[in-house]
Formats: sequence, C-alpha cells, structure tokens
Amino acid sequence: MCVFCGIVAGEVPKHEVYSGERVLAFLDINPATRGHCLVVPKRHVERLGELSREEAAELLEAAGAIAEACRSQLGAKGVNFWINQGRVAGQVVPHLHLHVVPRYAEEEVKVEVRAERAAQQELEETAERLRKGLR
Ligand SMILES: [Zn+2]
Repeated sequence: MCVFCGIVAGEVPKHEVYSGERVLAFLDINPATRGHCLVVPKRHVERLGELSREEAAELLEAAGAIAEACRSQLGAKGVNFWINQGRVAGQVVPHLHLHVVPRYAEEEVKVEVRAERAAQQELEETAERLRKGLR
C-alpha cells in the first residue's frame, strides 16, 4: 500500500486539514512554507488524467478553499499550486497529489523553468499531435 493510501485509511498519522467524500488534504511533513498542504484523491490514482470528473472538481475546490484559509488564517500573500506527475517530473509518492504552497514572500520558494522561444513550425506540429491525443 502506498503511504498516501495509508494516510487515507488512517493507518499513517496525518495533520488533516480537509476531508470530503472523495478528497483528503493534510499538511506536508516537509513543508516548503508554513501551511504547505497536499490534496489527494481518496482513491489511489497516479496521474491527473485518471481522476473522475467528480474527483477532479472536489480536488480543485478543496485546493481553492485551502488557499483562501491560508490567506485568512495564516496571512499568506499568494499561493502556488503544483502537481509533479511521473518520476522524471519529481513525483516521489506515486499517488496523485496537488501541492498547495502558501507564499509569504517572494524569496521563500524558487521554481525555475528554463524556457526558450520555440519555432513556429514546431509549435504547430506539437499542437497537432496533442490534439490527436485528445480525440
Ligand atoms: Zn495510494
């Protein structure tokens, strides 16, 4: 059993923040900032695309509500929401989790993205391939 399924089942201790029909949220034990939460579906899925519409809706609603609570209760000035999907993207626990990271100052967390302008033809070909995958 994965550690987040253990948390959902109540076999692993947690600092619960939210529990709904399909989604659970708890504090990350290695927080990037104070109030850093993980929002997870109660059903074990690894990737965002595996969620049902109902699970996806509750996941986002919970994340949005937690962000509001970070603002009103902890004084957060902003929030980062992020999902690492797949080992190559930094997913450590193979159970989908959305990070909700309240931000108090710009320099606390550094997310670096190396981005360069792509060629027009490459953008067109890539968009076409992705559209095929969505049909
Ligand atoms: Zn799991």
